[in-house]
Amino acid sequence: MQLSQRITHLTGGGSDGWDVFYKARRMVAEGVPVVELTIGEHDIRTDPVILEAMDRAALSGHTGYAMVPGIKSLRENVAARIEARTGVPTTFENILITPGGQSALFAAHMAACDQGDTALYLDPYYATYPGVLRGVGAIPRAIQTRAEDAFQPRAEDIAENAQGAKSLLINTPNNPTGTVYSRETLEGVARVCEEHDLWLISDEVYDTQIWEGEHISPRALPGMAERTLVVGSMSKSHAMTGSRVGWICGPKDAIEHLINLATHTTYGVAGFIQDAADFALNQGSALEEKIAEPFRRRRLLAMDILDAQNVVKPIPAQGAMYIMLDMRATGLSGEDFANQLLDTHKIAVMPGESFGQAAAGHIRVAMTIDDDRFAQALRTLCEFAADLANNRASAA
Ligand code: PMP
Repeated sequence: MQLSQRITHLTGGGSDGWDVFYKARRMVAEGVPVVELTIGEHDIRTDPVILEAMDRAALSGHTGYAMVPGIKSLRENVAARIEARTGVPTTFENILITPGGQSALFAAHMAACDQGDTALYLDPYYATYPGVLRGVGAIPRAIQTRAEDAFQPRAEDIAENAQGAKSLLINTPNNPTGTVYSRETLEGVARVCEEHDLWLISDEVYDTQIWEGEHISPRALPGMAERTLVVGSMSKSHAMTGSRVGWICGPKDAIEHLINLATHTTYGVAGFIQDAADFALNQGSALEEKIAEPFRRRRLLAMDILDAQNVVKPIPAQGAMYIMLDMRATGLSGEDFANQLLDTHKIAVMPGESFGQAAAGHIRVAMTIDDDRFAQALRTLCEFAADLANNRASAA
């Protein structure tokens, strides 16, 4: 039987850029001790106090169908958190609770784009983005950002590609680059969205992981609340990746339609998970800071190690749980470097090429293992890069 093109073309065919990751996983399965600095998953589990709240909610019977838009107290809690952080008046009617940020990305694009519409996104990008855009029937159009700009997008590059487009997807703090978009960047983005009448879909799932500068939600910029759909999630902020709970924040009428979409797709999020998320948000920012702390610490460790050498060039690591490193001094592509590092030193990182064209020659290092092993792996990585660069110099 023939399957739909929508599903068979979701990943665009060819390599999905995850070969190094899968190779590392195979090695681990065979018992090889690989140091995995690949995916964005905390090395701690969900805090027991949140799990106890989940347990209480489930045992007290919150296991039936939950309210499709989300339980009111969680929607109110998310709205209050957003209003406190951005100053933009926000009520529960601006919020739809979703099964994670991933489904929120999909739903937001369903709301913004019709079949055949052009949907813009920025390269390098979080790996699922082009598939999400194809999945809703849109035509993805990537806009390159540049290593020399620390991957801050230029408004003129977006404007050049915006003709006839319906939406623009951005992500700050950024996965994979660790860049936090500046006010100037976001004002430029907002200007282009207004000039070209674009929906802005703002993926802010890393908003609690800021190491430098401040997180600015573009929804807070003048005129942007009516054309911005913010994607949020408990995955990164509360180490609740497996719970699958996130949200979309947007204009009330858009949320009404998105609730209708949820009724016909997900039918909401488990009630006991929502209760746990509600409880977690009630703990305030102290819990969020506790969960972000290991990454803050490891980023400082990494900066010390990287400052002591001059072969590997870091993109300023301003936020999120990753560090992007420019490996071009080794003469290798990100993919070749990652493969050789894995073969030689059993350290797995993500090639920049996994995230598009713009980060070619780079690698992404996830700060997701304990400090000592992380620092040791990064030192080994730098020494390996220095050897490769030296060999290259002596061969020339
Ligand atoms: N956006 C970005 C940039 C991500 O890195 C991730 C997960 N790694 C997501 C969205 C989706 O996260 P979740 O579905 O767990 O909320």
